[in-house]
Amino acid sequence: MTTQANTGQGPTRRETLGLGGGLALSLTSLGGSLSNPFVKSVFAGEANLNYGAWEDIYRKEWVWDKVTWGVHTNQCLPANCLFRVYSKNGIVWREEQAANTEAVSPDYPDFNPLGCQKGCSFHHVLTSQERLRYPLKRVGERGEGKWQRITWDQALTEVADAILDAHESHGPQSFVIDAPHLHAGSVSFCGTLRTGNLLGATTTDINVALSDEFKGITHTFGTCRQGFTADNFFDAELLIFSHTNMAYTAPPMYHFVTEARYNGTEIAILSPDFSPSCVSADVHIPIKTSSDTAFWMSICQVLVEENLIKPEFIAEQTDLPLLIRTDNGRFLRASDLGEGREDQLYFNDQATGKIVQAPRASLAISGKPALEGRWPVTLADGAEVNVEPGFARLQRLLKADYTPEKAAIPCNIAPGLIREMARKIAVKRTHLHIGWGSCKQHHGDLMERAAMLALALTGNWGKPGTGFTHFFFATEHAEAFVFLEKPIEEGGLQLLLDYEKMAEGASKAKDPEATHTDAVLELQQLLTRGAGLVPPTPWMYHHAGFDQHWDRKEWTDPALDRTFGEYLAEARTKSGEPALAKVSPDIPPNVLLYINHNPLRRQRGGRKLYVEELFPKAKMIFSIELRMSSSAAYSDILLPGAAFYEKDDLTEGFLINPHFGLQQAAVKPPGEAKPEWEIYLALHEKIAERAATRSLTTFSDNTGTERQYADVPNRFAMGGSIRTNQDIVRQFVLFNEATGIFPKGYTFEQLQKEGGLRMAGLGRGIQDAAPGTAYSNDRPFFSFEDQLHKKTPYPTYARRAQFYIDHEWFLEAGEAFPVHKDVPMAGGDYPFRIVGGHPRNSVHTLHAAVPSLMKLHRAQPVAFVNNKVCQDKGVADGGMIRMFNDNGSVEIMASANAAVGPDQILIYMWEPFQFKDWKSPDTLLVGMPKPTHFALEYGQLKYYFMAGTPTPGTDRGLRFDFEKV
Ligand code: SF4
Repeated sequence: MTTQANTGQGPTRRETLGLGGGLALSLTSLGGSLSNPFVKSVFAGEANLNYGAWEDIYRKEWVWDKVTWGVHTNQCLPANCLFRVYSKNGIVWREEQAANTEAVSPDYPDFNPLGCQKGCSFHHVLTSQERLRYPLKRVGERGEGKWQRITWDQALTEVADAILDAHESHGPQSFVIDAPHLHAGSVSFCGTLRTGNLLGATTTDINVALSDEFKGITHTFGTCRQGFTADNFFDAELLIFSHTNMAYTAPPMYHFVTEARYNGTEIAILSPDFSPSCVSADVHIPIKTSSDTAFWMSICQVLVEENLIKPEFIAEQTDLPLLIRTDNGRFLRASDLGEGREDQLYFNDQATGKIVQAPRASLAISGKPALEGRWPVTLADGAEVNVEPGFARLQRLLKADYTPEKAAIPCNIAPGLIREMARKIAVKRTHLHIGWGSCKQHHGDLMERAAMLALALTGNWGKPGTGFTHFFFATEHAEAFVFLEKPIEEGGLQLLLDYEKMAEGASKAKDPEATHTDAVLELQQLLTRGAGLVPPTPWMYHHAGFDQHWDRKEWTDPALDRTFGEYLAEARTKSGEPALAKVSPDIPPNVLLYINHNPLRRQRGGRKLYVEELFPKAKMIFSIELRMSSSAAYSDILLPGAAFYEKDDLTEGFLINPHFGLQQAAVKPPGEAKPEWEIYLALHEKIAERAATRSLTTFSDNTGTERQYADVPNRFAMGGSIRTNQDIVRQFVLFNEATGIFPKGYTFEQLQKEGGLRMAGLGRGIQDAAPGTAYSNDRPFFSFEDQLHKKTPYPTYARRAQFYIDHEWFLEAGEAFPVHKDVPMAGGDYPFRIVGGHPRNSVHTLHAAVPSLMKLHRAQPVAFVNNKVCQDKGVADGGMIRMFNDNGSVEIMASANAAVGPDQILIYMWEPFQFKDWKSPDTLLVGMPKPTHFALEYGQLKYYFMAGTPTPGTDRGLRFDFEKV
């Protein structure tokens, strides 16, 4: 990386490492922990080490100034691993796992030791070469790497003036906060969204931008915020993993897999490559990339064909008994019969032979819904049509297209193995763990829906050891403080309670039979709109040049006859969704803020389109960052943020590991870097000051309310008192205690003493409502107990787990039921398929350039290619290859590897700056979003924070070719 030489940060090693005092530590004994720059500075005589006696080298090796609590708020999964952090002379030297969790009972494994190789190396990030220490201003071209060190006052003045200019020229919405991530912690995430809310900015939705929404789960169950604790694995008899390489991506959880295996659980891994996780599996199912739907539908075919299904479970929990008209493929509705509301659906009662209304307020059904048959019905207009249960229709589909012999063609899996797996799923308590790779598939929604169908046919949810693990995290404390106006101790929570009441009322007004979950989803929509959050794909389409990719007909699903842009236009008109209306092509992105977002890495195709199309439109790009990422290098102003162990923070509650952890400021941030809450407060104060100087008094926020510039700093600080990271973390603790996420009476002081705790409850929001199970700390957690025992309906259009979606776009696309479709030809038609994910050495790209961790792969970016294919192409192991498609070409080292399928290229995440000309394989990606996901306002199909609308990160299975360089 060349930018560092020109950052103007000068001789900062001594200052950064805080070596002014006499550091009596041994270079040799701590050699493994020392970064190269540190060693260099010592040998250059810049570091003033003071050895009293040679014995100090070992005597004082374990003597510390401070031992604090540390966690990593970078949103790896599972996150929340609690560490002890050891620091001396202002430097964090090492960290080790606290390992202080307890099992729910003697019958289950505990979560210890919680931690991974990245976690044990975070202190390297603090002193890494890419670390930012001072505010910097660009003096060359964007991305050229020429910087000038400036004061905080100058930096904030220039940023504040740019925001005010944007307000004056095109309104507050032309200040855009592009998809801020939680990587830097709850405080920074909350501070960013709070800033967007207060200033009326446009903030693109992080989870949708990341393509981290399990759309097929949402389509089936109404939300994708269910959850399971990892110890639920222990109750499974069959554990299936798909779209994940858990040994790399969730090392602290992996022991639950091996422990379950010792307990007799069978482990099956569905994966195109023989991933490192396969080592401890009983069965590796070597599925061809992107053919999962065919596999799961074939499993369903065997289940139905061999009568291995659970008819009572299907009839009660799913939409499969609901009647579908044979003339148009739509559900039979009360509005068809002139009997009431449009979303009232029907089933045929075998007991009476009559067609009756399916209850909407409960899953409990009096009577016996038929799963097969066909009956005539007279509609309100006198027309006669035939109707049949969805199950009958499904049966025909499975028989026609998904026998194991037919599915074997796209999947490349022996029919016998498909049959064997189906028979096991039918009789074993089966749990499916789906990784985030599923969300990166263009047709990942169909894959998830098909997998859920197999679980439904076999009654595999709502009981210990069953169900599916994917995504659940409680950001409730961070999300609430986007809005709260007063500290909790001053009654701040009341505002949220008022919003809840409002949402409850709105929900009941729409549907008198609405449940608590429906009201919570209503609240999510209200808050999303209030915060100014918008779906990212329309914004990228209009402003970042993605229209040139996404509107290419030959790159789109051939089943669709319209382009992405045409679906978007229709969705705007039909849905009336305000978040779509807010993304206007006429409001340019005058000011762009990047915080913990590295779009040149993360946005598929962003390396090219952001640089060529989006950035030139912005008058000001500023970043709040702890390191010089590839994207930060394109900023105009860089504001240096504090890293882990340099600021107070609190983790999010990921349910797979149901613990929270406290992050404490063990050392000061280097140079003039600051915690983000303080940066935002200083920025708001500067905006108020500059507005007064420029005689600007008011602006409109996201709700259209007129706001005073002079009030912004005070409002940000909740009346003035919440000024530091620690202040807001105290508020988080109060909030979590008040909402039941923490035990009653739990205090910040207690947290400081204990470092972390197991969650006591799921809070008040979506994370409480969506899983449908009462949380308890004396047993593993799994979802949908209420649906099974209390008959609570699912928040879907059909009010049941829904496998048939009769939205007109789904019917047009042939996706009313899940069906196998190949990945569209985005990027062109080439013989190799790309797959990817997280590397062994980094969480996202945070450690991508940390030398000690890079050695876990090959100390440089690498593509894993089948060894036989390499041989055929004359490529040696370690040789360079050129990958290419219609978007261009990039160079990367090849690892000739027998674990990779012959049509695969497996590439993990790397920083663009690690490649020649900063051209990473991400440059070649298209991220083709699925236009039908603009279907909104159909039951569960809607947009709210972290859910709904097309995602731009679908890259798995895209086609490439390669040649030897
Ligand atoms: Fe745990 Fe993630 Fe930290 Fe590793 S990086 S120790 S998995 S929180």
